[in-house]
Amino acid sequence: MPCQRGLIALICLTIIVVITTICQSFHTNFLTVGRNGTLRYEPTELDLGQMRFLAGLSDSENLRQTVQRIAIKRVPSTSGHSKVRNYIVDYLKKLNWNVELDIFTQKVPIMSAVTFHNIVARQNPRAKRYLMFGCHYDSKYFKDFDFMAATDSAVSCALMLNMATILRNQFHNRSDISLMLVFFDGEEAFGEWSAEDSLYGSRHLAELWEQHGFLDRIDLFLLLDLIGASDVVLRMNIPSTSGWFRRLVQLEKKLFQAGILPLQRPLFKFEPGTDIDDDHLPFMLRNVPVIHLISNKYPAVWHLAEDLERNVDYNTTEQVALVLRMFVMEYLNSAPSTSNTVYQ
Ligand SMILES: [Zn+2]
Repeated sequence: MPCQRGLIALICLTIIVVITTICQSFHTNFLTVGRNGTLRYEPTELDLGQMRFLAGLSDSENLRQTVQRIAIKRVPSTSGHSKVRNYIVDYLKKLNWNVELDIFTQKVPIMSAVTFHNIVARQNPRAKRYLMFGCHYDSKYFKDFDFMAATDSAVSCALMLNMATILRNQFHNRSDISLMLVFFDGEEAFGEWSAEDSLYGSRHLAELWEQHGFLDRIDLFLLLDLIGASDVVLRMNIPSTSGWFRRLVQLEKKLFQAGILPLQRPLFKFEPGTDIDDDHLPFMLRNVPVIHLISNKYPAVWHLAEDLERNVDYNTTEQVALVLRMFVMEYLNSAPSTSNTVYQ
């Protein structure tokens, strides 16, 4: 009997330890990043003065002009596609970013062989790790009409370029962490969407980077898609990065309380959403932490001739830009030092 009592005491003690550990983990704000959660840290919040300063850097005219330059017909292997590709490359080179192209040729339905070009831009090419943003810059081919694809995804790409312009004097060139912008090619299917006919660029890049060991250097990947409509709503589609999504929700709330949001309503909602296939998938399957910022309500103009720049809602778009700008600066300011990480 004493032995049995001892066993019960041991079980009770174990239960208490487990419950205490779980409670403690809920009470700390530590979040993980990196493939397989290799880095752990607590973000340092921006103060109100910093937020007001960063909000004051908005350049709505730049954002509008950038959307206009990208929202043209840009099906892979067409002149519009080259024009947009060159525009993005030149834009970032002028801001002194390092820009590289991942070029490959693949057979696709309808058009036989197509040469794709992923654009990879790094603010500091010598950094050891990156906070990554992604969008797709190709537009879907439609036989019966010209598809300009403003929300799908010219606006997302313009948000990334606008961010690079606005923050150009705010990067303090930490040698360990930097910002990376990836413009994927060939997201759209040429025929019916399938695992083989879609995500050409992201599948190629994720595989290439896995071979080169580069995926381990991505802290977190935020993919933007279908942004630009007035009824955009961004939900938590991926539970494993919910802590980071919550930061976006909290930042939007803080901006609202400070009276520096264009709208009186939140666009980021800490509610579970149903995730759909997109360029994050090949990375997520390889354990890269992802936040998928796609409107859970599809734009009314989705895959229609009306998906034009003139139908873009710049109030919601600016609000998304503001929240992302705060997120980036908070992240780059407070990301853990590489000296404490496995990448030393
Ligand atoms: Zn589409």
